[in-house]
Amino acid sequence: MKSISQLTLQDFLQHPLSCRCGRTHATAIKTVRIGSGALQDAPEIVRQLGWQRVFIIADINTYAAAGQALHRQLTAAGIHCSELVFTDPDLVPDERAVGSIVMRFDSKSDGIIAVGAGTINDISRFISFRLGLPYVIVATAPSMDGYASTVAPLITNNLKTTYEANMPQAIIADLDVLAKAPQDMIAAGFADILGKYTCLVDWKLSSIITGEYYCETVAEMMRTALERTTALQDKLAHRDKEALHKLMEALVLAGVAMSYVGNSRPASGSEHHLSHFWEMRYLFQGKKPVLHGTKVGIACRLILKLYDYLRAESLTAEHLRMLPVEFDYPAWEQEIIRAYGKAAPEVLQLEQKAHKNRPDQRHQRLLASAEHWAEIQDAIQNMPSAKDLAARLESVKGAAFPHEVGLTAEDLWDGIVYGKELRARYTILQLLWDLGLLHKYADRLAREEFPTSAAAASR
Ligand SMILES: [Zn+2]
Ligand SMILES: [Zn+2]
Repeated sequence: MKSISQLTLQDFLQHPLSCRCGRTHATAIKTVRIGSGALQDAPEIVRQLGWQRVFIIADINTYAAAGQALHRQLTAAGIHCSELVFTDPDLVPDERAVGSIVMRFDSKSDGIIAVGAGTINDISRFISFRLGLPYVIVATAPSMDGYASTVAPLITNNLKTTYEANMPQAIIADLDVLAKAPQDMIAAGFADILGKYTCLVDWKLSSIITGEYYCETVAEMMRTALERTTALQDKLAHRDKEALHKLMEALVLAGVAMSYVGNSRPASGSEHHLSHFWEMRYLFQGKKPVLHGTKVGIACRLILKLYDYLRAESLTAEHLRMLPVEFDYPAWEQEIIRAYGKAAPEVLQLEQKAHKNRPDQRHQRLLASAEHWAEIQDAIQNMPSAKDLAARLESVKGAAFPHEVGLTAEDLWDGIVYGKELRARYTILQLLWDLGLLHKYADRLAREEFPTSAAAASR
């Protein structure tokens, strides 16, 4: 039997993997075509799915990049196409966007083809689920790892909410199209992959401390994808097709890993908490959105610094057992209202359900941390340095520092201290909070990242 690092993407798609973790892993994605000219395979893939009529969803940019060629090829092959091309280049995945598709939709369609990256996919995946119709993705940029996701983050009532959605039947990524994607989108996709440096360690920590399910095979699969991508990073800046191929493959694999596990654990940890928190804040403040992966890259660098601070502490298991566990709920509630604004009620509700900050739960986790302290210290070794990560991001012309995308010292501080409240998911942020170190580290990070900022100094 081949080892995980020898398996190809196609191996993962075709065979259910009966795993050492005790589960059998499988994914609903059947076909992934990544290659130069892959778009020409679209008619064949559509026919294999048994579709006669398709509905294409694109925006003006993605339609020019691939949608038009797709339409031409399908029509020439005798497949009927109708379509909706959004004209707004800053399309928001909200009720309005979903509604405009419904109004235009050809109800005789056998399936949907989404042509685009993040937003177009989020909307199409959701529509596909709600209409009970399968869908296929034609990727136009290697910009994020949500291509194979089973949830769609949409904005409803001005709040970002995650909805159930369909997995694509097929993913088509033509390298000739990807090579023309804007560089910031390529850098964002690469940064989303770099985020696995922190998310995989977060996952491991949770398995040690909370007993959460963890699969070493899936983690290894992601680590291999990460290594293959970083090995070619210098070529990404020059849009080298082999490098783009590896990046796209890693992005799709992240989706496969998520479907293997049944949630986003193998692809999303504390770096994603920060990214989601900042995304929400920008939305409320009416600031121009920043690409998901770009925020993940910046956040990953910050989280690596937190791991660094923690490695330098000389804590002992005895010390951990003695730590105080009180939780000043009213003060925390006030802070959540300040930091989250309109989204605060939802965050408060989550805590009332999950009780992750409640003294008894914290006490339990601290006891487990004390018992496994040596194992924890072992798990957090061998991570790249923050400096190393910045160099990787910069090599693809990506942003590495918060100020580069307009984040302030306060955004950073709030993200570190309260970003974890968005989800009941254990990461280094919860560990540091349990250890009573989170505020201190947030202060230090804000000072280091914004040395001249008054906000950082006053904390
Ligand atoms: Zn497994
Ligand atoms: Zn991501």
